[in-house]
Amino acid sequence: MSDFDFDLFVIGGGSGGVRAARMAAQRGARVALAEVAEMGGTCVNLGCIPKKLYSYAAHFAESFEESHGFGWVGEAPVLNWDTLKSNRAREISRLNGIYVQLLKSAGVHTLNGWGTLVDAHTVDVGGQHYSAKNILIATGGKPSIPEFPGSEHVISSNEMFDLSPFPQRLLVVGGGYIACEFASIFNGLGAQVTQLYRGHQVLRGFDEEVRGFIAGEMVKSGVTLHLNTDVATIARAGKALQVQLLDGSHITVDAVLYATGRVPLIEGLGLQAAGVVQGKAGAIEVNDQYQTSVPSIYAVGDVTARVQLTPVALAEAMVVVDALFGPTAGKKPRGMSYDFIPTAVFTHPNIGTVGYSELEASEKFGKISVYKSDFKALKHTLSGSTERTLMKLIVEDATDRVVGLHMVGADAGEIVQGFAVAMKAGATKAIFDSTIGIHPTMAEEFVTMREALKR
Ligand code: FAD
Ligand code: NDP
Repeated sequence: MSDFDFDLFVIGGGSGGVRAARMAAQRGARVALAEVAEMGGTCVNLGCIPKKLYSYAAHFAESFEESHGFGWVGEAPVLNWDTLKSNRAREISRLNGIYVQLLKSAGVHTLNGWGTLVDAHTVDVGGQHYSAKNILIATGGKPSIPEFPGSEHVISSNEMFDLSPFPQRLLVVGGGYIACEFASIFNGLGAQVTQLYRGHQVLRGFDEEVRGFIAGEMVKSGVTLHLNTDVATIARAGKALQVQLLDGSHITVDAVLYATGRVPLIEGLGLQAAGVVQGKAGAIEVNDQYQTSVPSIYAVGDVTARVQLTPVALAEAMVVVDALFGPTAGKKPRGMSYDFIPTAVFTHPNIGTVGYSELEASEKFGKISVYKSDFKALKHTLSGSTERTLMKLIVEDATDRVVGLHMVGADAGEIVQGFAVAMKAGATKAIFDSTIGIHPTMAEEFVTMREALKR
């Protein structure tokens, strides 16, 4: 019998922490998990799930409008923001309960409170010390907002879900995932949205054509996009906010959302006391088994500031569980590959992408071929919508392997997930070409693009 209270002590009950705790306990380990807030973490409480529910809500606006072309008559219903908020809150509470139950039935000892490292094998929660053979830090991240005159008036994505009243005029600052998604969502829900980004085009790091295409679609759907400028100051003017921009112009809005990135949540964790080495912005440094500079302490998810996505945190957690408690019977211990991680941005329309952008691919592989299709979806021949769809394939000439697949269009996230499997398996363009399409769909376009646009 070990001298420790637990085999594994997990700090943080979000995507990575809950997965690691459950799976370790299911393998017979004695596991404790400390969570200071509701179980489920950012994704469940303030991220993926409530965001996607609001995105569904926002999509109804275009559906009501588009229904007329299909013969539906009558006025579009109006949004009851309070109903949406309370229905969302009810669903999130249900999910919190499921997470608590999952941990309980796996035999995890859960503690409600703030976890602080005392040393390499001890965690303090509410003044009580718990010893563990290994400790996993999965404390996630938090919004990062720059300081400037008036920055006290701005809010982060955390506050967006329960805003009261509904912001009729919303300024969104930033050009990343959260900024683009919330600009689309609140535009769909009926707000007058202005998005401000300091660079030349939103979504730096995505394929250049995808960036231009989504920006165009968002503008068509009603978002006012200001590029190459930033906020200078913000002042309160009665109930409104007066925002002065660096380009000399100003706008008046009801709320300002800053979506300018997220940083690791490491305050009050006792990292220095335990000797855990940190890198840029405080991110915990780990090796390829997610072990920190202290061999008994591991870290996964956003707190390591690698790829901030829920499925990535889940996969990293499984690497730790396999490393510490052995793989599932008959399987090898899992490793983690950061290649070909598919991702979606839930803008309206969605972006779905896997693999390299055209620029990255040409730098990495040299000779590439680019296939592209830009079309009006069948649905919009009657809907009256001017929305267009972009699909793009990037192929490495030397191997014929498809190394980049990008889509801007309805349900792009759903479509790209399946193609990601093929690309992980190394599918070539010849395999794409020999795959029979499903007709009539948008997705079939990915297997029917024959002529390379560029080589
Ligand atoms: P988290 O899920 O953040 O969990 C960390 C937990 O630790 C929290 O519950 C916190 O309360 C707790 N905690 C922190 N410090 C302590 C402490 N000292 N003691 C006890 N508890 C502590 N990803 C996607 O894949 N798809 C999406 O659509 C998506 N949408 C998003 C939308 C938004 C608005 C945001 C903000 C994020 C979104 N993400 C999305 C990213 C995703 O939510 C994160 O990558 C993921 O939650 C990271 O998981 P984690 O386990 O590292 O941390
Ligand atoms: P991102 O890193 O995606 O984007 C941050 C944006 O803010 C960038 O456009 C950046 O500009 C800009 N920015 C940064 N600092 C400043 C500043 N001081 N002033 C003005 N602009 C600034 O972060 P998000 O906050 O949007 O999201 C965090 C992470 O959460 C994402 O990277 C993603 O991993 C995850 N997420 C995933 C989602 C999904 O899977 N659908 C949805 C939401 C979040 P620049 O590019 O010029 O640096």
